[in-house]
Amino acid sequence: MKNIIIFGAPGSGKGTYSDEIVKRYNMGHISTGDVLRAEIKGNTELGKIAKGYIDNGQLIPDELMIDILAKTYDSMPAGQGVIFDGFPRTIPQAEALKKMLAERKHEMGLMIELIVDEETLLARLLNRAKEQGRADDNEVTIKKRFEVYHNQTAPLAEWFEKEGIRNTFTWKGSKDVMLGEIFAFLDKQ
Ligand code: ATP
Ligand code: MG
Repeated sequence: MKNIIIFGAPGSGKGTYSDEIVKRYNMGHISTGDVLRAEIKGNTELGKIAKGYIDNGQLIPDELMIDILAKTYDSMPAGQGVIFDGFPRTIPQAEALKKMLAERKHEMGLMIELIVDEETLLARLLNRAKEQGRADDNEVTIKKRFEVYHNQTAPLAEWFEKEGIRNTFTWKGSKDVMLGEIFAFLDKQ
C-alpha cells in the first residue's frame, strides 16, 4: 500500500481506523501521540519536555517533532507503506514530511481526512478519559486541543488539497459505515 496520512480533530478516530487499516493492508503505523506517551512513560529527556506541552493541550515544537518523525520512519520495515497518525499537524511539519520522503524517493501517498462534529468528539474524549485515563482527556485540556486544532492543524486540509491527495470521509453515526467507505476507497488504490 502507498503511504497514508490520516488527518482529523482529537477524537476523530485516527488511531482506531489506523489500527484497522494496518491489519487489512499489512502496513507500518506511526502514531506520534503514542511515541510521545511512551517517552513520557519511560521518563526520558524527550518525555519530560513533551509532557509539559501535552498536559497543556499544546503542540510539541516542530523541529523536535520532525526529528522524531524521521527517526521513527527510518526504523519502520521498508516497502510496506506507513500510515502517519497525528503527523503532520502544522504546515512546517507537512513541508518537512514531504521533503523527508522525497529525499528517500518516497511519496506522501494518500491523505484521509475524518470529519466528525464537535459534540461527538467531546463525548468520545470524555468517555476515553474514563476508560484510558489519558492526562489530556479532561474538559479544559480538550477545549484547548480543539482550539489548537482549529488554529494550527485544520488549515492543513487546504495544503493537502493543493497537493491533490485529500480524501474526505464524514461521520454519519456508524463506525462500520465509515470504515466500509474507507476500505472501499483504499481497495481501489
Ligand atoms: P486522538 O488520538 O483521539 O486523535 P489527539 O489527536 O489529540 O487525539 P494524539 O495524536 O495522541 O491525540 O496527540 C496527543 C498530543 O501529543 C497532542 O495534543 C500534542 O500535544 C502531542 N502531539 C502528537 N503529535 C504531534 C505533532 N505531530 N506535533 C506536535 N505535537 C504532537
Ligand atoms: Mg490517537
